[in-house]
Amino acid sequence: MSLHKEKADILIIGTGLAAVTTALHIPSDLSVILVSKSELTETNSDLAQGGIASSYLEETSEAHKADTMFASNMTSCIERVDILTAEGRQTIEEMERFGVRFDRDGDGYDLGREGAHQTHRIFHAGGDETGRHVMRQLRRSLPDNVKVLEHVLVHDLVVWQGRVVGAMAFQREERIHIEAGAVVLATGGIGGLVDWTSNVRTVTGDGLVLANRCGAELTHLQRIQFHPTLLATEEPRLVTEALRGAGATLIDADGRHVMAHHLLGSLAPRDEVARVLTERNGPIYLDTTNVTRLHDRFPKLALTCDELGIDLRQIPVRPGLHFHMGGIEVDDMGRTGVDGLYAVGEVADTGVHGANRLASNSLLECWVFGKRVAQAIQLNDAPFTTSESLAYDISFEMFQELRSQIGNWLTISPNLEEMKCFLQNTQSLTLTKHVTRQLSEQTLLLDAARLLAQSILGMERHDEHDLSTRTTTTVFE
Ligand SMILES: Cc1cc2nc3c(=O)[nH]c(=O)nc-3n(C[C@H](O)[C@H](O)[C@H](O)COP(=O)(O)OP(=O)(O)OC[C@H]3O[C@@H](n4cnc5c(N)ncnc54)[C@H](O)[C@@H]3O)c2cc1C
Repeated sequence: MSLHKEKADILIIGTGLAAVTTALHIPSDLSVILVSKSELTETNSDLAQGGIASSYLEETSEAHKADTMFASNMTSCIERVDILTAEGRQTIEEMERFGVRFDRDGDGYDLGREGAHQTHRIFHAGGDETGRHVMRQLRRSLPDNVKVLEHVLVHDLVVWQGRVVGAMAFQREERIHIEAGAVVLATGGIGGLVDWTSNVRTVTGDGLVLANRCGAELTHLQRIQFHPTLLATEEPRLVTEALRGAGATLIDADGRHVMAHHLLGSLAPRDEVARVLTERNGPIYLDTTNVTRLHDRFPKLALTCDELGIDLRQIPVRPGLHFHMGGIEVDDMGRTGVDGLYAVGEVADTGVHGANRLASNSLLECWVFGKRVAQAIQLNDAPFTTSESLAYDISFEMFQELRSQIGNWLTISPNLEEMKCFLQNTQSLTLTKHVTRQLSEQTLLLDAARLLAQSILGMERHDEHDLSTRTTTTVFE
């Protein structure tokens, strides 16, 4: 198998908002490589619907900060929330300088409101296609010092004497070694581990595994957000919370408002709504009869419902895996505890979301902390060495079987017995040195699920196979 080599000052793993923001703010005299596992645009950032929360038009960021703390039930880190909301006041203006156009209503912005926000402060673009519009414009703005490589699966980071100096990957089926003075993990969340998710399938917690193998700390992995409203069809898709912000209510088959007991009604924090819906038997619908200008404000949803023959006035919904609050522990500049390794976006645990993220705060987090990572990066000057890669020696059928087991326990009410069973089944897998792209991909996914299971069970994370203890052997020329 041929080996292809690349070299840059900084390697950013990901092409979503966290990665692109970081790349846009790195000084132009440094070379940057951005890699995506599949197509450039296959990211959760591109799927974002509701928009970006910012107190840009408010007197201060205090109310946004209070809402973020309240939604997390005071489990967010207040100093980090302060950074997010205070620096986030400039985000809209900063993105506009890169050419992003947010939706307007007459002379002013057409602001949305979502669950647990006291006020309308969600800036959106293209109605419910904010992610696609924002990402398209920001990617167009990437300068010449940034090179993008698609279909690159990073399966291992390269560490030399405790310092991260690059990565080993497959570009399609070809091996590729990328030498870099610093590596930024912007690999997103974990939704692709299960079928009932709003996420793209390729986002499967790889960054957690890569970081863990080279000794970075992972925190609060058990903090997983389930979205109350995925379209209850064969292929689940998100039904944005902005729809409830615009007046839609959650009803049962008899037309009863299922969140009537809550002060915030259908706009209660996500975890509370998702739990109520999970515990109820029978179908749940979003009643949109009170929403004005439905087709104008939610064009993508209207089109999807039309294509699937769903009545837009009564949309069937159910909860599903949406967002990961836990992740790689970082300081307030996105540094992990490992030299040369940074993390940003959904893969990082900055502490801003606590146990429950406030709607539309994650794109904001990507921007605010992406800028900070770009400022903090220091380059390592160390030889690029590689180690032998290992992967689980399993057939695709066996992998599919194990993946379907993950779907049985990774729910809002985790089934602990199923989880223990999964850990046992994966514990006994054998390793091979004959690594292919497919085996690497399967291994990363299973290891990410193992890390989550161990956290949910409150176990210390210690992998029997301990891929992190491998020594570095080959010098890259
Ligand atoms: C349907 C949906 C709607 C949402 N709506 C909103 C919203 O309105 N507002 C809001 O604030 N948030 C929203 N979110 C959440 C938000 O979109 C995400 O949290 C955010 O976009 C994450 O950005 P990211 O850059 O960290 O990761 P992503 O955008 O998910 O990008 C991950 C990148 O990592 C790459 N990658 C992963 N593993 C590897 C690997 N091993 N090798 C190489 N590359 C790899 C992927 O290819 C991809 O390019 C929504 C999420 C979803 C799913």
